[in-house]
Amino acid sequence: MRGLPMPESSFKYVFVAAFAAGCVIRGICTAPVARGRRRESGKIVGGRRVWAEWLLLMLVSVGMFVLPLVYLLTSWLDFADYRLPEGVSVVIGVVGTAVFGFALWLLWRSHADLGRHWSVKLEIQQRHSLVTEGVYRHIRHPMYAAHWLWAIAQALLLHNWIAGPAFLVAFLPMYLRRVPHEEQMLLDNFGEEYRRYVSRTGRVIPRVRRS
Ligand code: SAH
Repeated sequence: MRGLPMPESSFKYVFVAAFAAGCVIRGICTAPVARGRRRESGKIVGGRRVWAEWLLLMLVSVGMFVLPLVYLLTSWLDFADYRLPEGVSVVIGVVGTAVFGFALWLLWRSHADLGRHWSVKLEIQQRHSLVTEGVYRHIRHPMYAAHWLWAIAQALLLHNWIAGPAFLVAFLPMYLRRVPHEEQMLLDNFGEEYRRYVSRTGRVIPRVRRS
C-alpha cells in the first residue's frame, strides 16, 4: 500500500476540513452578535453563575481544539495511535464524515435560529424572547447537540486514544453542569411559556410524539 493514502490519514484530512469549517461557522455566526452586544453594553438583565464554569469551558477547549491540534501538528500523541482493519476504518470514517456534516449543519442552523440570544455565559438580555422555532422547535439545546455530534465525529475520525475521545470526555461535565442551570434560568424568566416548551421538546433528541 506504500504510496497510496491509507484510510486513516484520508479521514484525518476530512476532520481537518470539517474542523476548519466549524470554526468558520462559529466565527461568522457569533461576530455580529458580539458586536451588537458591545453596542448595547450593560443590557444584560439576568443570568446564572455556574460553579467552575470557566474551568469547564477551558476543559472543553482542550478537548475540542488543543488536543486535536497537538495530534495533527506534532507527533507527541502518536504513541496512542491505534489501527483498525481497513474495511472497518473506511466504514467508521464514512459514518464519522456524515456525523460531522450533520453537526456543522446543526451548528449553523442553531446559531441562525438563536440569533442575538446566543452567549457563552448563561444570561438573559433586555428584550430576550424565547426562541421555539427552526431547530428549536424540536429540541431545546440544538447547539449542544451539534457539539455532541462533533465530539462523536472526532472520536470516529481520529484513531488515537487521547485526541479521539478528548472532546467527548471534556464536554460531558460541562453539559451535565450547565443544562440544568440554563433550563432553570429560562424557567425563572419565561415561566409557563417555557414549561409548555419543555413539555413538547427533548433536550438534544426530539421527543417522540404519541398520537
Ligand atoms: N442551550 C442552547 C443555547 C446555547 S447559548 C442550545 O444548545 O442551542 C446559551 C444562551 O442561550 C443562554 O445564555 C440562554 O439565555 C440562551 N437560550 C437558550 N435557549 C434559549 C431559547 N430557547 N430562547 C432564547 N434564548 C435561549
